[in-house]
Amino acid sequence: MDCIFCKIVAGEAPARIVYRDDLVTAFHDLRPAAPVHILIVPNRHVATLNDLTPADETWSGHLLETARRLAAEQGLTGYRLVLNVGAEGGQSVFHLHLHLVGGRRLQSHLGLA
Ligand code: 5GP
Ligand code: ZN
Repeated sequence: MDCIFCKIVAGEAPARIVYRDDLVTAFHDLRPAAPVHILIVPNRHVATLNDLTPADETWSGHLLETARRLAAEQGLTGYRLVLNVGAEGGQSVFHLHLHLVGGRRLQSHLGLA
């Protein structure tokens, strides 16, 4: 399978990794939308949130907890978490990922801009 995030998780493609454990990997976004823009992905390939099964509950909760902890480590008191689902939802990489965005004042409307 030709998945760039699987390759990053496997160490087969370069990325600025900020955290990894048995369940998730976090790395800086290639094209940051804000001073802090980190992607947190499950180590297991899951294309979209729509592909989640009950077996995925362990890491899906861990994804949020990791985002909270990384935000604290980055010194962010306010930040935004974004999870795009499907092409219509703005998803461009089909390996589920949570965007952690912050470090500047974010507009109140939805979206990364
Ligand atoms: P999506 O639009 O799917 O929610 O977000 C995909 C994100 O992945 C984009 O913000 C894009 O900049 C980022 N991205 C795409 N390819 C790579 C890559 O090879 N490495 C890293 N670090 N980020 C990537
Ligand atoms: Zn993948």
